[in-house]
Amino acid sequence: MTTFPTTDDSVVVIIGSGAGGGTLANELAQKGIKVVVLEAGAMQSPASFINDEWKSFSQLAWLDNRTTSGSWRVAKDFPNLPAWICKTVGGTTTHWAGASLRFQEHEFKTRTHYGEIAGANLMDWPVTLKELEPYYARAEDKMGVTRTNGIPGLPGNNNFKVMAAGAKKLGYKEVHTGNMAINSQPRDDRGRCMQIGFCFQGCKSGAKWSTLYTELPKAEKTGNMELRPESHVTRIEHNAAGKVTGVVYFDKDGKEQRQKARLVCVAGNSIETPRLLLLSASNMFPDGLANSSGQVGRNYMRHMTGSVYGMFKNPVHMYKGTTMAGIVRDEARHDTKRGFAGGYEMETLALGIPFMAAFLNPGGWGKDFASYMDNYTHLAGMWLVGEDMPRENNRVTLHASLKDKWGSAIPNVHFDDHANDIAMREHAFRQGERVYQAAGAIKAFRTPPYPSTHNMGTCRMGASAKDSVCNAYGQTHDIANLFISDGSQFTTGGAENPTLTIVTLAIRQAEYIAQQMTSRAI
Ligand SMILES: Cc1cc2nc3c(=O)[nH]c(=O)nc-3n(C[C@H](O)[C@H](O)[C@H](O)COP(=O)(O)OP(=O)(O)OC[C@H]3O[C@@H](n4cnc5c(N)ncnc54)[C@H](O)[C@@H]3O)c2cc1C
Ligand code: SF4
Repeated sequence: MTTFPTTDDSVVVIIGSGAGGGTLANELAQKGIKVVVLEAGAMQSPASFINDEWKSFSQLAWLDNRTTSGSWRVAKDFPNLPAWICKTVGGTTTHWAGASLRFQEHEFKTRTHYGEIAGANLMDWPVTLKELEPYYARAEDKMGVTRTNGIPGLPGNNNFKVMAAGAKKLGYKEVHTGNMAINSQPRDDRGRCMQIGFCFQGCKSGAKWSTLYTELPKAEKTGNMELRPESHVTRIEHNAAGKVTGVVYFDKDGKEQRQKARLVCVAGNSIETPRLLLLSASNMFPDGLANSSGQVGRNYMRHMTGSVYGMFKNPVHMYKGTTMAGIVRDEARHDTKRGFAGGYEMETLALGIPFMAAFLNPGGWGKDFASYMDNYTHLAGMWLVGEDMPRENNRVTLHASLKDKWGSAIPNVHFDDHANDIAMREHAFRQGERVYQAAGAIKAFRTPPYPSTHNMGTCRMGASAKDSVCNAYGQTHDIANLFISDGSQFTTGGAENPTLTIVTLAIRQAEYIAQQMTSRAI
């Protein structure tokens, strides 16, 4: 195993080993660049994953204290859990479902296509779909996404068959088992999906792509990457010239360490990334690093979400097979005749009994609740996920008084739904119910949004240093050797699940970093 001294100031330090950080680490290591990955979470493996919802949650989720504010329902239901994301080697790619969709062309140009929407901070991305296409193709190949690269789709379980039957009756056309980063046949030294179910608890067979057992071991094999689990970064340091020089972190024994760096890439997911930039404020950068625009922490997006379940006379057993077993894409278009801008996807989703009880109607009880739980085996479920509006005041800030165990201010996540999000959710709920009614449901019901699984924005990319944090390569406008390498870069959120785009941007960023390092621009 390669190790680098903490005094080695020629390494690239990457903070976080999830979709963004893990991919970037491998891409750089393959190019011969020395990388140190600092990951706050512990090492797990398919063997140590636990197929039990709450135990797995305790094993993988980020449970450090956070607070919430704003009118979103999550602030009421889960005041200290704004987001459902991970602290573990591999980050949230251990937990995720695997849906891997490209953004659509118009979603990179929302200001142009949607116009000005009051209360929304819309902006065009500084990069187009055309420019990203070759990188999307590489990401799909790397992740083994079904229905790309000649990889067949997954078979589809009962939960999918019920949704597909209803959707087709309603006239929906784009209905299939999805573009999933799950092996439908053996590939990349990993076996095919065994349809065991409970993909959110970590894939026991390794069929689902996760940086834990793909990117990170491949990077390690080059001899150019050192991964340090249980290493929590609390500060990024800089010199008098305003260049970053390294990071301060606490190692697995709770000892403070200082790792020098030529370059620092932050990939802590969209709450921890801006938090770290804000925590690193100094005399030279009193508002936090890379924050001359004042945009660090702002434009936090989480996607418009909600779920619909249908109750059927006959059993469905939605929990058998892949968690996200299929998709309806017809509503993902931008079509303001429906009363809102942007679009949404309908994706099957199955929760186990413990999570169903927790998320069905938090704080609720009574006859309906008991009847849904009694009929758990007869339920089919879908998740609705659509583009939400970026807003300046939907933001991550540092808490004025509460600190974590390292003495750092904890983050507060403020979120108010935009009227566009509310109109879209209402439409999506109605269409979801109609799908199940068309499939013969006895009744269909809605459940409110869970803590955010898709966290985006907060360090958005843009053409100008005036209104954005980083450029089209994730390089911060203010500090040339500081990069944003996760979904925090997103200018707007699109309707699609974000991870394929995070991986795509990481592949492209690695190419740019390598060029910049070779030309000694950074
Ligand atoms: C249940 C669930 C299902 C999902 N399903 C899908 C899906 O089907 N499709 C899809 O596209 N997306 C899905 N997602 C979202 C997806 O997992 C995330 O978009 C993606 O993992 C984000 O990548 P990231 O690199 O930004 O962050 P992460 O993958 O979360 O990685 C961030 C890492 O940084 C580490 N870290 C943070 N702060 C520090 C620090 N200060 N020091 C050291 N380390 C730090 C964390 O511990 C973590 O390991 C799902 C998420 C969940 C929770
Ligand atoms: S259903 Fe397939 S992808 Fe999901 S956990 Fe099981 S083997 Fe892995």
